[in-house]
Amino acid sequence: MNTFEFIRPSDSETAIAASAQANTAQQGADVRFVAGGTTLLDLMKLNVETPSRLIDINQLPLDKIESTADGGLRIGATVRNSDLANHATVQRDYLVLSQAILAGASAQLRNMATTAGNLVQRTRCMYFRDTAMPCNKREPGSGCPAITGANRMLAILGTSEHCIATNPSDMCVAMAALEATIHIQGPAGSRAIPIGDFHLLPGDTPDRETVLEPGDLITHVTLPPPVVGSKQFYLKLRDRASYEFALASAAVVINLEDGKVSRARVALGGVGTKPWRSREAEASLVGQPANQANFRSAAEAALRNAKPQSENGFKIELAKRCLTYALQTATA
Ligand SMILES: Cc1cc2nc3c(=O)[nH]c(=O)nc-3n(C[C@H](O)[C@H](O)[C@H](O)COP(=O)(O)OP(=O)(O)OC[C@H]3O[C@@H](n4cnc5c(N)ncnc54)[C@H](O)[C@@H]3O)c2cc1C
Ligand code: SF4
Repeated sequence: MNTFEFIRPSDSETAIAASAQANTAQQGADVRFVAGGTTLLDLMKLNVETPSRLIDINQLPLDKIESTADGGLRIGATVRNSDLANHATVQRDYLVLSQAILAGASAQLRNMATTAGNLVQRTRCMYFRDTAMPCNKREPGSGCPAITGANRMLAILGTSEHCIATNPSDMCVAMAALEATIHIQGPAGSRAIPIGDFHLLPGDTPDRETVLEPGDLITHVTLPPPVVGSKQFYLKLRDRASYEFALASAAVVINLEDGKVSRARVALGGVGTKPWRSREAEASLVGQPANQANFRSAAEAALRNAKPQSENGFKIELAKRCLTYALQTATA
């Protein structure tokens, strides 16, 4: 690990000013915020990330979960994943979020991991984490060995010829189905970004994973008011029962009226280069009777544009079955 300066500001303005000195956008930048450290310190030990300055944001007053005036929920950036998953309001009104977080990592990691850190966590692609290998995400222009190499865990939706890495988050998949908004404070002021616009597709700049600019601090995430009568479920399929990233996962938030789907929000994990909201599946569901045939049709729609790599073609059928089963379970 390289040497670095460690600072611990007590207010957001100081933290933002210090971070704004970074000469690139946040991921891979020389000045970095650190929250739980469960992604960043791992990558520093591997020399994948080599910041010269770390700004510890754990002293900032960003650790609250509060109701909003419109009946939604405000989740502070440094709220620990465990606290969020076990919060009474989340378990009652946003169950899919609790289920998704509890399906991730381990109890110890969730006790450290934060809301913002989870949003900005990086891919688990093995080539990205190995500095002996080329990787366009880590070193733009160096190549993508995953495309002809080990890609069983990698993405089938949203890929490009430059990168096929999967976004590994479970929390973000539930947040996509719940239509969360990310609130950012930066040197030029504050802005709010719908989660669907927060993560970027790899395109020809896979090193750029989010819209964050130097100095941008995620302060909180908001969830809209809970949808009355919605049924929610998160299903994660993986190689072992716990402590493993998704091969495919599905978050569903669905409402029925007289046996038909009146509203549906669907997102997939483990298969996309970003948390993958499927408007195709949603459109296919609305107005249709809630039965297995229609759930399967929605899953077909969600995976219609999937592009398999040499080792991960199985994910197409797996993701279809995952979504079909999640819809069945939510509406049972
Ligand atoms: C062994 C292992 C297994 C795991 N399994 C899973 C899993 O199954 N599912 C899953 O979803 N996740 C899993 N994770 C990932 C884990 O959820 C993330 O590491 C964690 O959520 C990151 O949060 P953190 O607070 O520790 O982030 P940090 O490591 O502190 O930071 C991560 C990134 O976020 C940036 N950042 C942090 N806070 C802010 C902020 N407020 N504003 C702007 N940028 C910020 C940092 O600069 C850094 O780039 C696993 C991790 C490990 C190590
Ligand atoms: S898939 Fe992306 S992260 Fe993995 S080696 Fe290719 S460029 Fe790097």
